[in-house]
This record gives sequence, structure tokens and C-alpha cells, in this order.
Amino acid sequence: MAQYTPMMQQYLKIKAEHKDAFLFFRLGDFYEMFFDDALSASKELEITLTSRDGGDKDRIPMCGVPYHSAENYIKQLVEKGFKVAICEQVEDPKVAKGVVKREVVQLITPGTVMEGSMLDEKENNYLASVSEFRDGTFTVSYNDLTTGENSIALISNGFDAVMSELFNRPVKEVVVASDFDGDRQMLLKERLGYTVSFCDQTEIQQEFSHLIESIHQDKFIQGFGRLLHYIEHTQKRSLDHLRPVQPIELKQYMSLDMYSKRNLELVETLRKQGKKGSLLSVIDHTITAMGARTLKKWLERPLLSKDEMNTRHDQVEGMLAQFFERETLREQLTSVYDLERLAGRVAFGNVNAKDLIQLRNSLAKIPELLTTLGQFDHPSLTNLYKEIDQQESLKQLLEESLADDPPITIKEGGMIRDGYNSQLDEYRDASKNGKKWIAELEGKERSETGIKSLKIGYNRVFGYYIEVTKANLPHLSEDRYERKQTLTNAERFITPELKEKETLILEAQEKSVDLEYQLFLDVREQVKNYVQELQKLAEQISRIDVLQGFAQSADKNGYSRPSFTDERIIDIKQGRHPVVEQVMKGESFVPNDIYMDDSTDVLLITGPNMSGKSTYMRQLALTAIMAQMGSFVPCEAASLPLFDQIFTRIGAADDLVSGQSTFMVEMLEANHALSHATEQSMILLDEIGRGTSTYDGMALAQAIVEHIHERIRAKTLFSTHYHELTALADQLDRLKNIHVRAEEYEGNVVFLHQIQEGAADQSYGIHVAKLADLPDPLIERATFLLNHLESGNAEVAASTDEGQLSLFVEETRPSKQSKSSAIEKQLKGLNLMQMTPMDAMNELHRLQKQI
Ligand code: ADP
Repeated sequence: MAQYTPMMQQYLKIKAEHKDAFLFFRLGDFYEMFFDDALSASKELEITLTSRDGGDKDRIPMCGVPYHSAENYIKQLVEKGFKVAICEQVEDPKVAKGVVKREVVQLITPGTVMEGSMLDEKENNYLASVSEFRDGTFTVSYNDLTTGENSIALISNGFDAVMSELFNRPVKEVVVASDFDGDRQMLLKERLGYTVSFCDQTEIQQEFSHLIESIHQDKFIQGFGRLLHYIEHTQKRSLDHLRPVQPIELKQYMSLDMYSKRNLELVETLRKQGKKGSLLSVIDHTITAMGARTLKKWLERPLLSKDEMNTRHDQVEGMLAQFFERETLREQLTSVYDLERLAGRVAFGNVNAKDLIQLRNSLAKIPELLTTLGQFDHPSLTNLYKEIDQQESLKQLLEESLADDPPITIKEGGMIRDGYNSQLDEYRDASKNGKKWIAELEGKERSETGIKSLKIGYNRVFGYYIEVTKANLPHLSEDRYERKQTLTNAERFITPELKEKETLILEAQEKSVDLEYQLFLDVREQVKNYVQELQKLAEQISRIDVLQGFAQSADKNGYSRPSFTDERIIDIKQGRHPVVEQVMKGESFVPNDIYMDDSTDVLLITGPNMSGKSTYMRQLALTAIMAQMGSFVPCEAASLPLFDQIFTRIGAADDLVSGQSTFMVEMLEANHALSHATEQSMILLDEIGRGTSTYDGMALAQAIVEHIHERIRAKTLFSTHYHELTALADQLDRLKNIHVRAEEYEGNVVFLHQIQEGAADQSYGIHVAKLADLPDPLIERATFLLNHLESGNAEVAASTDEGQLSLFVEETRPSKQSKSSAIEKQLKGLNLMQMTPMDAMNELHRLQKQI
């Protein structure tokens, strides 16, 4: 260390405390990075790497970014999951003795960004923390710094459940203890893609005790303490806006494990990461950003309380009934600003006058909004409306204090309204009168000198001046004109009189700007007192927004109000898949009933590939989720039991991240369902057993169906290509066969996507194969095998290569020959060098499906 210059020593000392972050070290107008930071930052940010003499014999690698454009660079690093420590000069370099004192003033991490382009306005930005306790329970706590929201969940059934809890949430960063299990850290990083940070302090400081009043267990408190310490460590500033911790009682919500959230494509699709094509994208008709965030929360936690669900449905119904009022409401919501995040920034002390004007305008909209709400006849909406406090006094403060069109900067005046402060008015008058006096002086000088073109101007260097063209100079006889500046065609002068007024004007201006700044800070401080009220208002408006969005999607997409039954009966009339029906171009979606009375636990679905089996299964799950989150559902009528959990094993691309085989993933997901499902659960199993050899797979599939039927009794949809399983209906009295109908039309197979009772006609496949001109001997052989299989003589079938009975797969093919060459062609056409492993996997999966 000693070999380095004092400044480098200072750098190294600070860097030692921030090993896991890029240290942005302020040097004049730049943030500089040194050593390894410089090497990696120059790569990540594509900026020039230089070096600097630091006292040692080798030069020190260095790179830097100008402080005024630093935000963009910080953003790039944080988006890549890195952390950035901002180290500022904390004393005036002019008065500093020796090296200027520097300190890290803020740590910017993916989970704690506060503003600007790093935030997605329609998503929360959570920092989470996971704490494990000796008895194998975990807490997961959340904080969204931008909204002040805090919550915590206790999870007692293992780390899998923690992963399911965190999966697909807008979490950016997870804080854990430094001795947290390494494999689990990897899962958080690789599987969920979150940045992992460490913090070992867990006790809650006195000043935050009000946040934890509602949580009584020590575990909760410790779990939350870790999160709080980390936030303090990164922010180093006011955390006044943090809201009391909400304990999340997981038992009050429908539970969806990681597999179901993914398979059902609730907030993003399986293949193309992103919202488009997800359930969320179809049902999101919210107007405000805070509404969009709330909707996502509702989707993540469907309810189990019938009362609350009914309230939501009542409110949607009320809004659906009055189109005109709803349109007005939607229009009014467009002028409501993101009050929730604004409240967060008010508390942080970084709002400008423009933000407060937005707040003022939003508040000004509330009375209209309430009037509109009052026009809805449904009593459930009257209650909603009565609870809202319009924040009159805050609105009044903002109306009285702020000018209408303030600048973004808060140091140049123009923010405070005339009449708010008498001292300010005086300064403004002085400056205004002075300007008027100067305008009058211009006229006076013109008439006295007879120079018509004489004018009075102002510039920053010389202040006010009198300008006379060169040609007119002889007319300027008096000696009170003092020459100040010579231009090509003119001369500029000042007079003692002009200077005197100038001083008055400028002084008044300066004082008024200073005073405005003080007044603004004071207004901002006052607004801070309303943070909690604003948060509450934001919550109420978000709710209204989500509900009107539900009414809107119900209206646009033809959804119906579901009802709930205490009996174990599913009765959906003319149900549809909410997403598939939207993406079908030109064709229309074929609606299907789903009916399971209380003595039916398993529906065994057979039917050709691509006929709509998995769509049918998914639509049941999505309908249940939509119903339990308070939305209307895609069907003509639906009566449903309340589902406590939904489990899915639906054919999907391989699980590449964990490196497991399709079959293994299949079994893991099935096992997960079998070990957690209850009588109140829903299980969807799509083509279980496909990943292994025929008999193996069939045996497993059968055993699984039996197990569910006998032991679990969850409502289960089970699709299979093992036609043999349809015979189970004779043994298992709560199992029913259904199938998807397909027909031939002019020699082609037409999928009607219609669900019908009973098992699919097995010979149908062979019939189709015949239509498709497969060689006669082959058809004969198939018929022979089929007869043997039907008579229970499986060995004959097993002795052949064509043992697997996925005859339906063959239906639409002209012949095997041309099929394989078509596949060959497609294989050859793949540009492997340009494909990601996932793409390749998907492509393979697609091709394999055709064989
Ligand atoms: P399977 O699971 O039987 O292989 P899918 O459920 O994946 O079949 O459906 C295949 C395709 O058929 C879907 O992508 C969709 O385009 C179409 N489809 C499925 N169900 C319907 C329906 N009820 N109405 C119209 N088209 C449908």
C-alpha cells in the first residue's frame, strides 16, 4: 500500500469495503475506475482503457465516465446485474488539506434502483431476502423501494417452495446470509436470474420498530431485519416512506408452484421470454402504471376467500353494466400520475416542481373520478367511492404554492406562484418594475438623443447596456455615456443611472431565486407529511383501475361472471382458452364444456396430436385462476369449486437450465403434484410417460392415475396417447373418458377441437392412415397389431418396432418416406451456428413431434 500515492491509498481503502461493486470514484468532472474495475468496466461499457501513475512502478489501469452522463453507464451495469458504489468528494477541494475527503454516498444495485430509465413502470422492482432457520423454515421478505411496500412470507415446506414463491416475481436481487448454501445461491442466480447479495445483520433498529408492529414472530422480524439493513447500507438516506410490513399468509391464496406458473404462461411465455402471449397480456386493460402493477400482484396471488372474490366480481359487474361511465372513468384515469412511486420519491426528497404539478393535476382529477364512480349504480362501487379521501388540504397547498409551468431545475426560480409569499412578491415586483423602468428609459433616451435605432439590451457579461450604431455615434454628445463594448457596427454604453437600476433588478432576482428555492424545499417537506395518505390513495385508485380493466376485458372478450360452489363440481359452459382465442388469426376458437360432477375426479383425455388436448386442459386452469383473482372468465357460464393449488405437468421444452432429461423433469413435476395436492387441488398431466419406452411409460401413467384417483382425489385432467388407459374407466369409478373429435373431410383429417364423452375411436388412426395412402401391407399389419392389443395380447405388439400406439400421430402424413425426407430437409436447413441451445432444443422437439 505504501508505494501508492495518498489518493490511490484512499481509493484502495474505500474499494476494500466495496469489493462486490464497481467503485465510481469521483475525480473532478469524472467518475474514475481503477485496477480490475477498470479492466472489466472498459469491457462491459465499451469505454477506453487508459492508465495512470499511482506511485507504484507499474501504471494503474484506469477508465472513466463524465459525471453528467454517468446515469446511463450506471444503468448499463446495473441492468447486467452488477452493483455500483458512488464515491463522491465530500469536502470542498478548495479548502481541503491534502487529499480531498471522499465517501461512498450511495450503492446502486439491481434491487434498489429508485428512478429513471432503470425502472419498468408497469412492474414492481423488488429487493427480496431469503433467511433460513435452523428448523428448515424460510422467510422471504420483499421491499420495493420505489413504492415503499414491504411484505414477508413464512415458508415451512422447503427450498422448492421458496423457489416457487420467488419465480416470475419482479425481483431483481436477493439478499442472503454470507453462509447461505452455495447450491441454493446458484439456483437463485442461474434458475431465477437474480443478483445475489449478502448481509449478516438481522436485528431491527429502534427507528424502524413501527414497521414491524404487525409481525409477531421472531423469525419474521429477523428475516425482515436482514433486508432492512441491506437497504440502509445501500441507500444511506431517508427511508421515511417505507410502509409497515405486511405478513403474507400464503394459506390465504391459491398456491401455484414454479412449474405451473411457467407452464401456464401466466406472466411470460415459455419460449420467447416476455409478456406477449401470456395471460397477463390478454387481461391487462389497466390504464395507470400502478394499476398494471396491482393487476400483476393479483395474478400472482389468486384468492381463497369467497367474500373478497365476490366483492371483486360485484364491482366488475357494476362497471361492466355501465359502458358510458366506464369509458369516462378510463378517460379520467389517463390523467392520474403514478402516485405510488411519486410518494416514494417525495419521501426520498428527489421530486422537482414539475413532479409536484403532476401530483396536483392528478389530485385535481380525483373529484371528477369520484363523481363518475358515484354514477355507477352497483352498491359495491358506492362503498369503494366512499372510502376515498380526496386529499383536499394537500391539493390546496400545491395549488396555492406552485406556478403552473415550472422548470425541471429547482435552482432557477419560476416554481412558486405569485401571492404565495409576500417577500417573494416584493422581490418580483422590484425586478418587474425595474424592467419596466428600463423599457421606459429606452424611449426617453431615444427622444433625448434623437437616435431612433437606440436600444437597451442585456447580456450576462456586461449586464444592461445602451446600444448605438456607429453611424449615430456623433449624436451621442453627453459624457454620461461610458463605453463598454465595441461591435462591428455599434458601440455599447452604460450610464450610472442604468447601472443603479441594474443592481436593484439583479439583486431582486437573485434574492427571489434563493427564496424560491427555500420555499420549494419547504413545500416539498410539507408534502412529505402526506406520503402515507398518498400511498393509500394510490392503492385505492390502483384497485379501481384493475377492476375497470376486468370489466373492459370482460366486455371486449366476452367473459362471464363465475360462481363458486362448495361442492366438488366443475361446470363450465362453452369455455375457451383466453390466450389461444386471441392469437387465432381468422379462424374461430371452438368452445367446449367442462363438466366434472362430485363423483368425477379424473378426466382421461384421448385424441390425436394437435387436436386441442392441452389447450383444453390449460383453459380449465386459467379459468380457475382468473375467477379466483376476481376477473370474469372466458365462457358462457362457470360454476367452480375453490382450488387451493394447481399443479401442472404439461409438455414443454426441455429443462435445459438444470440439465435434466425430459423424463426426469416430467417425473419431478409429477412427484411435486402428487406429494402436495389435496382434494381441493387441480392437477393437469399432459402425456405423462412419453419420455420413456412404451410399457415403462404406460405403466407409470397408469400408476399415477390410480394413485390420484385412490389417494388424492384432486380434480385431474390427464391426457394420454396410451389408448389402453381408457380401459381404466371400468375399474376406477371416478374416472371418465373424454376425447377430442376429429373428422375426415375430402381425404384430409380435420380437427374439430370438440370435446366429446367416451374414448377416442382407436381404429380411427388406422383409418386416417389409409386415407393418407400408406402402403396396404402396412395398414394390414397395423390392423393386425391393433386387434391383438385390443384382445390384451401385448407381447405381439411389443415384439415390433411400431409398438408404440401413437397412431394418431401419423394421420396427416402423406407417407413415411416423404415425411422423413421432409424432416431431413428441415434438419439440413438449420443454421446451427446461429441458434441458441434453447432454439435448437425447441426445433428438435418440433421435428421429433412430426415423426
Ligand atoms: P394437443 O395437446 O392435442 O397436441 P394443442 O392443445 O396443443 O393440441 O392444440 C394444438 C393447436 O390447435 C393449438 O395451438 C390451437 O391453434 C388449436 N386449437 C386447440 N384447441 C382449439 C379450439 N378449441 N378451437 C380452435 N383451435 C384450437
